[in-house]
Amino acid sequence: MSGQLKTTEGRTMMRTCKPRYRDTRDCPQRYVPVEVREAIRDKYAWPGGYPLYIVMSDGEALCVDCGKKEYRQLAEASRDKDSFGWRPAAPAINYEEPDLYCCHCGERIESAYAED
Ligand SMILES: [Zn+2]
Repeated sequence: MSGQLKTTEGRTMMRTCKPRYRDTRDCPQRYVPVEVREAIRDKYAWPGGYPLYIVMSDGEALCVDCGKKEYRQLAEASRDKDSFGWRPAAPAINYEEPDLYCCHCGERIESAYAED
């Protein structure tokens, strides 16, 4: 019974004969760590509004914008347990590193305290 919905709040419980989760079975998105998913959804979501970036499994830094753009790659790499490349490890906060650059687009990753 792995397909049971765990949450009841916020969902309209409509009785239909069609399952609502038809696409999730093979959806690689569910392999992405939930913290990474949340960071991609809102890069300032952490308490305090600190700017987040994504630490990849090989130690590189990826900006959240690239995480969003290349989400498919992140998801597939997570599913396939790639040790290199696109597999995200965890989100991190850039507190005061002024020279942190995204390994994909080369943009500087915003920091909390090192601006200006
Ligand atoms: Zn980037």
